[in-house]
Amino acid sequence: MIEGENLTKEERLQTEKHQRRKKNRSIYGMMAVFGLFFAGMAAYYLYFLVFASPTTMNNSYNTRISSQSTTVSRGSILSNDKELLAYSMEQEDGTEKRYYPYGAVFAHPIGYSQMGTTELENSYNYSMLTSSVPIWEQIYNDIMGEKNPGNSICTTLNAGLQRFCYDVLGEQKGAVVVMEPSTGRILAMVSKPSYDPNNLVADWDALISEENKDANLLNRATQGLYPPGSTFKLLTELAYIRENGETWQALRYTCNGTFAYNGLTLDCHDGHAHGEVDVRYGLAYSCNGIHATMGLALDRKDWLDMCQQFLFQQKLPIEIVNTPSTISLNEESSDWETILTSIGQGTVLETPLLNCMITSTIANGGVMMKPQLLDRIVNVEGKLVQQIEPQEYATLMSVPEATTLGAFMRSVVSEGTGGGAESEYGAVAGKTGSAEFTQAGDMHAWFTGFAPAENPKVAVTVILEGAGTGGDVAAPVAKQIFDYCLSHEIGTVQ
Ligand SMILES: [Zn+2]
Repeated sequence: MIEGENLTKEERLQTEKHQRRKKNRSIYGMMAVFGLFFAGMAAYYLYFLVFASPTTMNNSYNTRISSQSTTVSRGSILSNDKELLAYSMEQEDGTEKRYYPYGAVFAHPIGYSQMGTTELENSYNYSMLTSSVPIWEQIYNDIMGEKNPGNSICTTLNAGLQRFCYDVLGEQKGAVVVMEPSTGRILAMVSKPSYDPNNLVADWDALISEENKDANLLNRATQGLYPPGSTFKLLTELAYIRENGETWQALRYTCNGTFAYNGLTLDCHDGHAHGEVDVRYGLAYSCNGIHATMGLALDRKDWLDMCQQFLFQQKLPIEIVNTPSTISLNEESSDWETILTSIGQGTVLETPLLNCMITSTIANGGVMMKPQLLDRIVNVEGKLVQQIEPQEYATLMSVPEATTLGAFMRSVVSEGTGGGAESEYGAVAGKTGSAEFTQAGDMHAWFTGFAPAENPKVAVTVILEGAGTGGDVAAPVAKQIFDYCLSHEIGTVQ
């Protein structure tokens, strides 16, 4: 009996133990499942926060943006000299409206956040819909049902200079880029004709209609593809100097105003005979004949490789949308195509931004900096959230190469075709370009250069569509911009 009782007791204990284990197992099982689930959730959340969300949030068609904007009031955009360029205000019906105090002046680098988002409004969408006010303030706002104030982005743009460049272009179609060569910071970026982002919704249909030939919404500085004309001779000369060691200095070409090759002819501007020219003089006076001679002598593959190192055929390392500049030179290219390439015509197309970056590289001793439009992110109280430091893209020239090209560019302004760009506030180095784009000989006018020549603070690139020659039209516009920069101490000393 005793044994039986004991057995029963043991059995009971075993059963209880078994049931407890079973219960525990199911609890542990559930815990494991939930644990994994939460770990997965946490991992995904972390991944989303760190990697995916900036991309997802910046997608202009993503619906998450609208849900984020219900809890965070979109932050502002400021110029580097602390002018308000874009801000949001709550309307009586509870919706937010975006205001752009400078209207059309900043429209292209800033973009818009209605009808989709573009430019900086798109690139930093996530930052402006993120709030970095203290956590207790966020909790208070959440309890009170109020929106948290989003962070503001401070650009590298100088409001005074941007307005000046915008006014200098007047009614002319074209673009201006002003950059600090030593940092890559963009101080001004203008594209004309522009549009007023305050009236975007009302003007939308007219802006995108087929009858509108002005392409107002296009940022010509970053997406406008133009034949670079003679500004491209800088890269032709660099390729020639590189390929010919010391002997490039011995090159002489006698210009009678027309370069003739296999029955085809290429005139210098107005058929002007430059006489005997060398590489320096050829750049100063923009002689087509000597550059055609250099182009024919070059190894086409090496030349193309060099142009690709200078970011032809690829997107530029900048936070806003841009179109790759193109060149279709290859080993099968005909001699005539090669001749046209050497003077920046034919198949070569370049954005004003890339032209400014190449000019800046020469000014910066051969080091190309990444172009930069964002300086810092701050919270609503102005407290720093993130500072963006200048970054090198690559060393693309040796110091002697950059010095040589820089000295030649100084000759362009001091004695050659670019005299109209000379500033009373400092020596300018640059290159003119008159790029034909019709059979009738209509020309886009280019000037790209930097100042002061010996100690560059700013690089300026100007293109005026269909306006005439670079020396006559674009150089005087660049001069006014150099005058403004140097007299207002804009740009850093290298
Ligand atoms: Zn010539």
